Amino acid sequence: MPELPEVETTVRAINKFKSKTLKKVVIHNRNLRWKVDNEVISKTQNKKIKEINRRAKYILIHFNLSTLVIHLGMSGKLRIQNVSDNYFKKHDHAEFIFENEKIIFNDIRRFGSIHLMDKYEEHKLIKYLGVEPLSESFNQKYLFDLCKSSNLQIKKLLMEQTKVVGIGNIYASESLFLAKVRPTKISKKITNAEADKIVKSVKEVLKNAISVGGTTLKDFYSADGNPGYFTLELNVYGRENQECNLCKNLIQKVVLGQRATFFCSKCQN
Ligand SMILES: [Zn+2]
Repeated sequence: MPELPEVETTVRAINKFKSKTLKKVVIHNRNLRWKVDNEVISKTQNKKIKEINRRAKYILIHFNLSTLVIHLGMSGKLRIQNVSDNYFKKHDHAEFIFENEKIIFNDIRRFGSIHLMDKYEEHKLIKYLGVEPLSESFNQKYLFDLCKSSNLQIKKLLMEQTKVVGIGNIYASESLFLAKVRPTKISKKITNAEADKIVKSVKEVLKNAISVGGTTLKDFYSADGNPGYFTLELNVYGRENQECNLCKNLIQKVVLGQRATFFCSKCQN
């Protein structure tokens, strides 16, 4: 599943379309997670793009009066192709056509979505999202204040999208390993120093993943490329019963909120 670093890399790959005019949108299959509204086609024709960025895992393509909001769901990908290239792949559901190139939305499982929003900040999908983990708003004080009043285990708290966005299951386990905090620790018991370490670790893990993503940018141009699905060096995730990279103790697995969670009981308290 594309996580925040993959989405950030996708945004960087398509950022070259900023200031370009979207000639038209062609939808081959409207039946994504939500049915694609006709406005996506009718109201974007010949509109100039002002800005391209993201909020959480939503890719935002801004026009003067509205914003195209694309979510990659479980298996969505964008790729860039010349307009003159007429090849298609199975599961190409939408094309965003510019003068020389086009962006193609491909999604095998169709959990992705495409919306056109007038005021995206006020849309129900966006409005309740928590702070961005790479922004200054996600800091030691913010996390410590959240923890103080929470009986949730810290990993669950980190994955609450209304508190902080985009820390997926893998990144939560990896960040807590770096911070040396056990994922099952009750948030209330997190100290100031631990909150500080967790914040720094989350940012480090996400930034590392984004920099790995930077090396895959060229893949956005090849039909068989696999943009945005990064192979990361993982310390704990998926490594049950394997030796910890730091202390050789065996990595343990527990299930928290139905999500597989990995940690080293020696390194993480
Ligand atoms: Zn260890």
